[in-house]
Amino acid sequence: MNEIEEDEFRNRIATVGEDGKRLWIFPKKPSGKFFNYRKIVSYGLLIFLFLAPHLRVNGKQLILFNLLERKFIIFGKVFWPQDLWLFALTLIIGVVFVILFTIIYGRLFCGWVCPQTIFMEMIFRRIEYWIEGDYTHQKKLAKAPWNRDKILKKIAKHSIFWVISFLIANTFLAYIIGSDELWKIQSSPISEHLGGFIAIIIFTTVFYIVFSRLREQVCTTICPYGRLQGVLLDGNTMVVAYNYIRGENRAKFNKKEERATLGKGDCIDCNQCVNVCPTGIDIRNGTQLECVNCTACIDACDHMMDSVGLQKGLIGFQSENGIKTGTKFQWTRRVKSYTVLLIVLFALLVISLLSRKDFEATIFRQRGSTFQIENGIVTNVFEINLTNKSSENYKIKLILDDPSKGEIEQVVKKMELNGESMLKERFIIRFPFKGVSTGREKVTVNIYGNGKLIESTDAKLIGPIL
Ligand code: SF4
Ligand code: SF4
Repeated sequence: MNEIEEDEFRNRIATVGEDGKRLWIFPKKPSGKFFNYRKIVSYGLLIFLFLAPHLRVNGKQLILFNLLERKFIIFGKVFWPQDLWLFALTLIIGVVFVILFTIIYGRLFCGWVCPQTIFMEMIFRRIEYWIEGDYTHQKKLAKAPWNRDKILKKIAKHSIFWVISFLIANTFLAYIIGSDELWKIQSSPISEHLGGFIAIIIFTTVFYIVFSRLREQVCTTICPYGRLQGVLLDGNTMVVAYNYIRGENRAKFNKKEERATLGKGDCIDCNQCVNVCPTGIDIRNGTQLECVNCTACIDACDHMMDSVGLQKGLIGFQSENGIKTGTKFQWTRRVKSYTVLLIVLFALLVISLLSRKDFEATIFRQRGSTFQIENGIVTNVFEINLTNKSSENYKIKLILDDPSKGEIEQVVKKMELNGESMLKERFIIRFPFKGVSTGREKVTVNIYGNGKLIESTDAKLIGPIL
């Protein structure tokens, strides 16, 4: 075969037939060492995912991404819109980490950690196996006429799918609006929370469609991360790969013959690696964009190798260069540069988190105002925005750093700033007519919380030019 013929398989998508219609994938039920490891990882992550919005640290939800109120809590630490730059930094670090990780370990994240794969393979697919049986039974059922048995099985399966989608939708919302708010929606009459109820139904429907219909299409055609594989992977990337040097020439197994002497490789062409693949590809064709590194084909092939007395690992976690030359993982210049970048960004994040202040204040001149003069005293009106990221409540008092410059009058005498909240109030600075001879001057406002200086910030006074 020449190179063009070898790459022929790339002209087709495993889930699209000659007529352009979708080919439904019926993957064989996976089993084996890697699948058992995946179950442990997946169920651990699922427990965390479902529990996290209901766990509390110092009375705060463990994880919250409240986009509506622009309030984020990560492991009990509250982040406000003012911490946006920290989020941006974390995001950059996340992107660099994903790039670095993908260069070294390929799409392992997809098969082992991604919620789409975990929900699909560890919950929805297992329910399907339980109700409809393994892949051969599922294929038979799909072709069978709509008799009583088929209708009952489909109703049972889709009803359970809908209920699980409903649970996922509720959990998803608990991360966005908070579990307390979600409980209000769940426990009050629908008429009181119509918007919340509609959101739950929309999310449930989306999840139901994703896991009952879209399935592997999310990983192969929708997910942008999957589409990036072509530019991130290189010959040294560790991926789920078929050792073609050992496997070819593939031929059916015959226990009476000595394969090596007949020029036959270790692949017994049993097709089990293809049958078990949730994206419907044949990994023996080489690394493909559709492969989510779920390792199901490794288990299937190892099982076959074991049954025919050949060495396991014909399909394994290895690099293209490793297969060609027998070398192990290489620290290329690209991997080294990304690692250095990742360490620098991570150090920056730690420094920023450690130096993050619990209290923030900004002072603006009251919109549209300038100054007023009365009895030789000039007044300027300001607005102060206070953010308290700690859980402590404060009684606020504003005092000028240099009292000779003037004095502050708080519009609200008892300014109270509760823990984890924001406050916007007006205040007035009065100063003598000759106090700002140049027309403008900067003064420092000290903010005292419960009698203790918690922050200082500047305000610009304006007055008549003398
Ligand atoms: S080729 Fe193997 S690792 Fe890749 S998706 Fe298919 S079964 Fe999973
Ligand atoms: S499971 Fe292994 S032996 Fe069977 S076809 Fe796939 S690579 Fe060949």
